[in-house]
Amino acid sequence: MKTWTNKDAGKETCPKCNSVYEVKITRFPLRDKDSFNCQVCGYEIESWNDTEVPSFTLVKRVEPIE
Ligand SMILES: [Zn+2]
Repeated sequence: MKTWTNKDAGKETCPKCNSVYEVKITRFPLRDKDSFNCQVCGYEIESWNDTEVPSFTLVKRVEPIE
């Protein structure tokens, strides 16, 4: 089995609430179909159907203004 590679893909900002995520790309041996929604406001930041799958870590939480 091939070793999974992790690469740093920089930062992603939620276009709706401006919370900031750190993105890492992991290569899986199988295609993965999923999406990521902002943990703060629920906006769909990214969706994928690929062997290279992003994972998001919240680094700056911006509370949505009601
Ligand atoms: Zn958001």
